[in-house]
Amino acid sequence: MKRDLKKLASETLDILVIGGGTHGAAIAYHGAMAGYKIAVIDKNDFCSATSANSLKILHGGLRYLQHLNIKRMRHSIMARREMMGFAPHLVRPLPCIMPAYGHGLRGKKIMQAALFLNDCISWDRNIGLPTDIHLPPGFTVSKQRCQELIPGIKTEGLHGASIWHDALAVDTERLIMTYLLEAANLGALAANYAEATKIIMEGDGLYCVSVKDKFTQQVHIVKTRFLVNAAGPWIDNLSSVTKSPDNTAQKWAVALNLVTRKKIFGEHAVALEGNKTYEDQDAIIKRGKRLYFFVPWRGYTMIGTDYQASTAHPDGLQIKREDIQQMIEDINAIYPPAQLTYEDVSFYHAGLLPMTPKIEAGKDNVQLEKNSQIHEHDRNGFKGIFSIKGVKYTTAPHIAREIIHLLQKRFSPAKTVNKKQHAPDAGGQPENHAISRLLEKRYGRQAARVAHYLQEEQDDNVWIDKTAGFLKAEVNYLIQEEMACTLSDIVLRRTGLGTAECPSRKILAEIAAVMAAILDWDEERKKKEIEDVLCRYLPLILPV
Ligand SMILES: Cc1cc2nc3c(=O)[nH]c(=O)nc-3n(C[C@H](O)[C@H](O)[C@H](O)COP(=O)(O)OP(=O)(O)OC[C@H]3O[C@@H](n4cnc5c(N)ncnc54)[C@H](O)[C@@H]3O)c2cc1C
Repeated sequence: MKRDLKKLASETLDILVIGGGTHGAAIAYHGAMAGYKIAVIDKNDFCSATSANSLKILHGGLRYLQHLNIKRMRHSIMARREMMGFAPHLVRPLPCIMPAYGHGLRGKKIMQAALFLNDCISWDRNIGLPTDIHLPPGFTVSKQRCQELIPGIKTEGLHGASIWHDALAVDTERLIMTYLLEAANLGALAANYAEATKIIMEGDGLYCVSVKDKFTQQVHIVKTRFLVNAAGPWIDNLSSVTKSPDNTAQKWAVALNLVTRKKIFGEHAVALEGNKTYEDQDAIIKRGKRLYFFVPWRGYTMIGTDYQASTAHPDGLQIKREDIQQMIEDINAIYPPAQLTYEDVSFYHAGLLPMTPKIEAGKDNVQLEKNSQIHEHDRNGFKGIFSIKGVKYTTAPHIAREIIHLLQKRFSPAKTVNKKQHAPDAGGQPENHAISRLLEKRYGRQAARVAHYLQEEQDDNVWIDKTAGFLKAEVNYLIQEEMACTLSDIVLRRTGLGTAECPSRKILAEIAAVMAAILDWDEERKKKEIEDVLCRYLPLILPV
């Protein structure tokens, strides 16, 4: 996959997708599968905005039973299954537990019924998946077992717990990259650091989109028949044509998760109720509290999600020390044995999510939008432009299929594509089995391509960091074939090196040195690249 904006501008596309988050990437893949000449651009790196900040749970929608929204559940279940089958090396079953209190809506009987319904509604959840990632049915456990799994939990009124399985996207950034790589294998074009700045309608049913190269500032004009605006929190910023049909300004909430080095629980994601009252206005069965999930992940615990109404522009979203401190206090109040301190927090996730305008000041009453939406702009006279307001990472494949279906009704692609999975280009097979396994675990079907770069190196000098299991060949591969342009791209999005906590300055300097040799960076550029990475962790404590 090569970044080539001149090539992008030299072709007339069927579809240009603006935004390379989970929605843009899934649309690029499904569009390419359907045979469209499709391209996806992102003004920064792929998966550098909301999609990099999720709690990484691919939901089957058990909670949507509260809204009796079976349709939404089915969309989630099918999308989760697609992602699990698409990249089984990046997604694994996640056992979840929620304590049951009293005999009412939060009691064991109701939970048993909910788990039964959930299993019926998701009867086909494992079809076509490798057996080692099958999701078993839900069940309830005794009070004693609940206390073993959640030691120190409040016992008053406790009757046991329910256990069910969702899926965990272990590396959300690589999952998106895998969608993009597979799309590229099918002929899609992609470019990061390429911002859509202007859209002009031409007379012959085509749009001309000005695309600015962030590195050279050069503007390229890209012609396309259809345009999909998958710009996440920027959807209304693009141009007046992409405003929602009723022209009301969208409201946004900032969503925050903390990542801690503390392994708070075992292998279960634990769902505990927050302390503040919260009224989900769309729920038919109201629980009265928001749930916080403690998710075990790569030896760390992710905790979330907290929401606050926000007027921040997505380019200037900033999390302050007070925001993190407040969330630590809330977490310690919800689960006192956590004893979380500021020093325990290694990273945080923050992003903007669409919310409804119904909010009462002073209450935890942020009402998030529940359903992703596709707006067609035909009504405002802009035929062929679609905007996506996505509310979940999980359901992106469902939205992608819907949008491609809508396009197929209007325009059939010129070519047909063999729908079988295309094998990536052949590469090498490392002789060292440990390295071979490591690459397969990290890169799945692309592992052979990475190994190809390994063959060019001396045996005793292959590692950047052996403890972290990171190879020089990976840097080379990521630059040449996955469009890594900056140190942040490698540390935060192509590898998991910096997605749970800031890597040491030594590793950062070593990767920067390898990148500098390939990309011809001088000392000043190397320093700036390292500073840019460190900035992402502020206001947390940085490594010395
Ligand atoms: C804290 C938190 C926890 C969450 N937890 C979960 C969870 O556990 N499970 C779940 O399913 N969902 C979760 N979500 C929701 C989920 O992450 C989002 O709904 C989803 O990632 C949105 O994806 P997107 O592709 O629409 O937007 P984004 O990921 O924001 O992508 C939009 C992209 O468009 C690009 N862009 C913008 N303007 C332009 C332009 N003019 N030209 C080119 N590119 C442009 C941006 O750079 C950006 O990369 C969570 C979200 C948050 C913030």
